[in-house]
Amino acid sequence: MKNTLKTLTAALTITLSAQAEDRDTIKLYALDCGTIEMFDIGAFSSEGQFNGQSATLADPCFLIRHPKGDFLWDTGLEQSLSEHQDGMNAGYGILRMERSLTDQLADLGMRTDDVEYLGLSHWHPDHSGNAALFTSSTLVINNREHAFMFSDEMKSQPEAYKVWGALENAKTIQFDSEHDVFGDGTVVVKYMPGHTVGHAVLYVNLPETGGYLFSGDLYTHAEGREKKAVPSFNFDKEATKISQSAFEAYAEEKGARIIIQHEMKHFNSLPVFPAYVQ
Ligand SMILES: [Zn+2]
Repeated sequence: MKNTLKTLTAALTITLSAQAEDRDTIKLYALDCGTIEMFDIGAFSSEGQFNGQSATLADPCFLIRHPKGDFLWDTGLEQSLSEHQDGMNAGYGILRMERSLTDQLADLGMRTDDVEYLGLSHWHPDHSGNAALFTSSTLVINNREHAFMFSDEMKSQPEAYKVWGALENAKTIQFDSEHDVFGDGTVVVKYMPGHTVGHAVLYVNLPETGGYLFSGDLYTHAEGREKKAVPSFNFDKEATKISQSAFEAYAEEKGARIIIQHEMKHFNSLPVFPAYVQ
């Protein structure tokens, strides 16, 4: 009995210290939240630079585990997609997902309720797909994007609105130009409009590998950045160009590595989940 108790106590101590150690530093995980095989990416440029090209886009979610809490950036495609072995044809391309976001979080011993903060770059369903799972989180969102998402116009489109509508009464931090999530400059969401009215990007500063700047959809893919392309479906073309310049200047100032979220090469350059960078 005494030995069993000793063993239990030892096991408990190890588990607790492992958890405490786990939360001492900041870690970044890149989760595969789907892929989009686009038949034609012509719309990625209003000048026709990509007409007739096809492309496979990554659709990641990023989890930042900070000593003060967990922050999830974007939620990918709606996860019931993972039940469709052969993917789904969305008309403009084939959507696929290997594993649900819920299952991937479970690999880390997490449930969706454990995520303290949810940040969304913008409302499009390839970024907000699983937002409705995070009603316990504090939503971090630009004030203009929030106003649009919960407008009467969007509420009158139930197919779109149901994706995030459950967050209407969630705790929410609406920011104007930027929000420093943990107050220490390590996780900062910045307003960079154009793709949508209140589109935002994310800066993360990791203790060992330094700064990362996540694009949201300010750029559609690496070639789009090289060619300074502005998609024809953007909310505001001029605002996009201004944001792209601001993004480049900010990356330079911070010496940050740019991660274009839909660029497969950028996603593949990050450790395969559940491995992480710190
Ligand atoms: Zn997107």
